[in-house]
Amino acid sequence: MDYPGNLFVVAAPSGAGKSSLVKALLELDSLVHPSISHTTRAPRGQEKHGREYFFASESEFDAMVEGNAFVEWALVHGNRYGTSKKAIEERIAQGSDVILEIDFQGALQIKKAFANAVLVFILPPSWDELRSRLERRGEDSPEVIERRLKNAAVEMEQVHKFDFVIINELFERALFDLKAVVHAQRLKYAAQRRARADTFESLNIT
Ligand code: 5GP
Repeated sequence: MDYPGNLFVVAAPSGAGKSSLVKALLELDSLVHPSISHTTRAPRGQEKHGREYFFASESEFDAMVEGNAFVEWALVHGNRYGTSKKAIEERIAQGSDVILEIDFQGALQIKKAFANAVLVFILPPSWDELRSRLERRGEDSPEVIERRLKNAAVEMEQVHKFDFVIINELFERALFDLKAVVHAQRLKYAAQRRARADTFESLNIT
């Protein structure tokens, strides 16, 4: 199904800076809306139900899986995360752009359900930098950092399946790149035709 809104899917290994980039894009571009996922993990810090995630019990999540409510769901670091159809379909059907910040398995599933989805992979500039970002974050024990690095190697093998690759060496540059991807989608013929129907009409382009 072809919807008027764009669907952007951003994936990255943890520590590559995906969340900060998506957050900065959302602050700059009010036409892009986040998709709020469901998760079985507990809220962290100041997280609020319905803002960062919809927090669900295992049985609530099961019921959604059985009810076919998810476009995709995956087990990530021991918890289940899913994108509900409701979180994206209404918005893109109305012509809004939606951005999903999900893991690589979910991103590839989304592409199967929405062939026009734009898949963006964020890479760190090097292994050393990825490791030191995870260490600087101070959130994880050395064992967890090792596990995240191992997972990162597996995740990064999938990068060739993505449409765009952004290397997050300098944050501002990476944000510029992400904005460029969003902007380029809006310049596509079908999008311009919809957004600037009056111009096409006045130019007699049928
Ligand atoms: P966190 O628990 O740190 O918020 O997220 C852990 C991982 O789960 C991140 O890589 C995040 O992008 C991913 N994630 C969040 N929501 C979804 C979702 O709906 N589907 C999938 N497949 N992954 C998700």
